[in-house]
Amino acid sequence: MFKARLWKKVDENRVQCQLCNHFCILKEGETGRCGVRVNQNNELYTLVYDKVAAINIDPIEKKPLYHFLPGTKTFSSGTVGCNFSCIFCQNHSLSQYPKKHKEIVGERVTPEIIVEACIKYNCESISYTYSEPTIFFELMQDTARIAVKKNLKNVIVSNGFMSSKCLDELEGLIHAANIDLKSFSDEFYKKMCDGKLKPVLNNLISLKKMGIWLEITTLLIPGKNDQEKELRDIARFIKNELGEDVPWHISRFHPDYQLLDSTVTPLSSLEMAYEIGVSEGLKYVYIGNVPGTTRENTYCPVCGSILIKRTGFHAEILNLKNGQCKKCKTSIPGYWENK
Ligand code: SF4
Repeated sequence: MFKARLWKKVDENRVQCQLCNHFCILKEGETGRCGVRVNQNNELYTLVYDKVAAINIDPIEKKPLYHFLPGTKTFSSGTVGCNFSCIFCQNHSLSQYPKKHKEIVGERVTPEIIVEACIKYNCESISYTYSEPTIFFELMQDTARIAVKKNLKNVIVSNGFMSSKCLDELEGLIHAANIDLKSFSDEFYKKMCDGKLKPVLNNLISLKKMGIWLEITTLLIPGKNDQEKELRDIARFIKNELGEDVPWHISRFHPDYQLLDSTVTPLSSLEMAYEIGVSEGLKYVYIGNVPGTTRENTYCPVCGSILIKRTGFHAEILNLKNGQCKKCKTSIPGYWENK
């Protein structure tokens, strides 16, 4: 066990975790909603600091990040646990493991080992991913600090439910984020995820202000979050609050976990969401999880040239040079070189 950061004593018997917007208050021996932070002797400990449950070398496109060091490899790791309980989770065997099995699993890996492995395997970034990185904050923060000194970049793939204190602590350490905007309905967040919408929206605005390269993903679930009005609300929020240059990934759902009676997202719904994004003025809208689609390519919003051609997770840079369209010289927002 490792002493946790971001918590306070409430009284002689209780502590409050301040890492995410649940702000769990825990009595002696109790574990938070994420299943990985525990009150012991009225102090808060993390159970996952040295328990990494998944490690892989991934293409950065898999996060998905399409405007951040395209074509590079990212050293990806995550622990078990999550502060959400999405009934459609596509990674539930990791994220929900502590709640289901009442135990923590993983290999002993230190921040130094993660950074060394990242360099050894020629990855340009480290991604904190697979489950929810907020809940393994201490491991992420220590790893990111070392990585920055080695000129490596740090990426989070997150549900965006961290506390503002947690975000403050990540200032200067994180270079890119893909954040889920799962719905524009608080009811959806409550019923389907055990979360809340508003903190996620606030954090998206904060991440943008912090200068972190931001991309957004919405998993489109038939009958749950695929109505035209809701999709238009999401697109308008991105355009008005974050900017027209923020990429929006609309991802196809496959039945999983507790939502096995649903269907795969029809292509027509994904296309409708795409058209809504474009009609609301977003310049970079992408469809994901659909093999063979041309909607995962990046096109110049001015002359229409194909800048980056993607096939699955493979990216081929065509008409993009120094962050500009080769044909019409339009600047394309993104993080194109590791400076
Ligand atoms: S990280 Fe969130 S869910 Fe976990 S104990 Fe802290 S406040 Fe609760």
